Amino acid sequence: MTDYPHLLAPLDLGFTTLKNRVLMGSMHTGLEETKDWNRVATFYAERAAGDVGLMVTGGMAPNREGGVFPGAAGLYTDEDIANHRVVTDRVHGAGGKIAMQILHAGRYAYSPDCVGPSPVKSPISPFPPKELDEEGIEKQIADIATAAERARAAGYDGVEVMGSEGYFLNQFLVTHTNKRTDRWGGSYENRMRLPVEVVKRVRGAVGDDFIVIYRLSMIDLIPNGSTWDEVVMLAKAIEQAGATIINTGIGWHEARIPTIATSVPRRAFTWVTQKLMGEVGIPVITSNRINTPEVAEQVLAEGCADMVSMARPFLADSQFVKKAATGRSAEIAPCIACNQACLDHTFSGKISSCLVNPRACYETELVYAPTETAKNIAIVGAGPAGLSTALVAAERGHRVTVFERDTQIGGQLNMAKQIPGKEEFFGLVDWYAASISAAGVTLRLGEEADVETLKGFDEAIIATGVAPRDPEIPGQDGSNVLSYIDVLRHKKPVGDRVAIVGAGGIGFDVAEFLVHEGESPTENLETWKAEWGVGDPELQRGGLAEAGPRPEPSPRQVTLLQRKAEKHGKRLGKTTGWIHRAALKMKKVKMVGGVNYERIDADGLHISFGEARDNPTLIEADTVVLCAGQVPARGLADALEAAGVACHVIGGADVAAELDAKRAIDQGSRLAATL
Ligand code: NAP
Ligand code: SF4
Repeated sequence: MTDYPHLLAPLDLGFTTLKNRVLMGSMHTGLEETKDWNRVATFYAERAAGDVGLMVTGGMAPNREGGVFPGAAGLYTDEDIANHRVVTDRVHGAGGKIAMQILHAGRYAYSPDCVGPSPVKSPISPFPPKELDEEGIEKQIADIATAAERARAAGYDGVEVMGSEGYFLNQFLVTHTNKRTDRWGGSYENRMRLPVEVVKRVRGAVGDDFIVIYRLSMIDLIPNGSTWDEVVMLAKAIEQAGATIINTGIGWHEARIPTIATSVPRRAFTWVTQKLMGEVGIPVITSNRINTPEVAEQVLAEGCADMVSMARPFLADSQFVKKAATGRSAEIAPCIACNQACLDHTFSGKISSCLVNPRACYETELVYAPTETAKNIAIVGAGPAGLSTALVAAERGHRVTVFERDTQIGGQLNMAKQIPGKEEFFGLVDWYAASISAAGVTLRLGEEADVETLKGFDEAIIATGVAPRDPEIPGQDGSNVLSYIDVLRHKKPVGDRVAIVGAGGIGFDVAEFLVHEGESPTENLETWKAEWGVGDPELQRGGLAEAGPRPEPSPRQVTLLQRKAEKHGKRLGKTTGWIHRAALKMKKVKMVGGVNYERIDADGLHISFGEARDNPTLIEADTVVLCAGQVPARGLADALEAAGVACHVIGGADVAAELDAKRAIDQGSRLAATL
């Protein structure tokens, strides 16, 4: 008997059967654009071998005007078919099934040639779309149907028609973007004509025995979005038009409500999909912030959907389903929803990967081959750098011993997990604990390794991390001054008025920590929905709460300071920085930049501005928290060097600037692959 009877049950689609209820959702990884089709195929085949029921590719453009950016991957021509065939053959060879997503970006295309229902520019693109005429609309429909036909010729098991997230088809559905008065605009029947026609024509092009998924926006989270009645009307029409499955889309890309970030509660939107259950006869898939087999099983057991879509969890662990099915759930590398190596890469034009799993999308180049000569390896420090090295080295067959002077593993991750909205870090530390134990790593907690200890090993790896930087502010030794470690680790009491010195990743985290009291909204869906203004689409168009965001007031008055004159949080993650800024703004945190720190006294923090150091100002504060960055903790590395003992120095002990878990894990894993 499996622990996940609903998740692992097959899904009979009539003409074909999916082996379980897990869909790997569409992700734009950037792999297809490399045109290295072996690399693309290896990525998908590894996941197929991990037993996922069905995969959906990243969005493929049906034509040039529909590409997300100029040169975006697609199935524009018959010549592209052979490339895609490399992928489908490898996936089928690994026992998997794969559908190609057809993504027409409409006004979201980053191109002056973008098209849409009406010339309404999107807030996230500089280009207003050209309004399509009747002939132009017919061309888009025909191109989408042709792309589906080519997908079938390329060996795909199906297509997913992307109708959500504010892309082309979604743009026709709502008056926010559709101002037309012809048969494609005006009444809802007219506005939904395009998506319905597209599905009809796609079905006509591919025949009956081919999966057609329609991704339907169930809660737009934008002004003038769809009502719930409209969502249901569309779903029924899409079923009639020939779709095999309906998948859930949550929020437009321009929505100002986070939908997949780590601070979004797990399964935050499955209640929306559940509303559609029973309204249509075809299977319905739910999505967003589902990242463990336990949560996925619960969602299905409660009848929220027939199938569960998880996308980023398959970057974190290609073997998600296989591990769940074989009693190894604790060893599933968790997607912590940070976006740092996946979406943030995509939006900076880089190939996606995963903070937790640097092999994601690098399967052909980062290979963890079993070792021929097992070595005795010592690793000092059980933070992300040390743990990732230990895990990969041990899995390759080395004998690994980890020394950690703390009584627990995790290093800085243990501070991150204290932050409201970053609870996923608990799972990351737990996963490391389970995985290094399963890999046979010897863990020596509470032990400080020295030069003598390390001499007996074949390799010594120093991952001793970082120490806080000393900002050298006069008065910083006062009893009203704390470091971020005092606050986050030692939980020292903090007053009602707080000045935070330093607005980097940790300054933001400390601010977030101090503006919350009691249960984190990420652990309480109703509080989180109220905080961000998520309503019920049955009551309010698009699911935007009538009252708007209603955050709990902050228990403290917090001022976040930096010396740079730039916008606060500019260097935070590309796709999540706005969330951190908005969250602190809602809590009325004051952001002050371009400051000089003059001194700290019992009244608070004295600052001045500019080179002239004029306009002296007092930030009245009961507590000043220092978050002024970090420096490498290199004591042991220097001692080894002085004693002539060779070692590898990684993570923060190597370079502290801009250190984050992504770099630490990447460096550790890559080093371990070469040992
Ligand atoms: P950081 O992002 O480099 O920020 C350091 C902050 O301190 C900056 O605001 C900087 O701004 C200020 N600063 C630097 N030197 C200073 C000095 N001498 N006196 C006063 N202020 C000074 O470093 P961090 O906040 O320590 O974060 C480290 C890394 O960890 C980042 O990459 C971050 O993304 C990541 N991160 C870690 C955690 C965690 O919990 N471990 C959490 C979030 C993020 P000015 O120079 O303008 O004053
Ligand atoms: Fe998940 Fe972060 Fe990995 Fe992206 S980078 S897949 S969000 S853990």
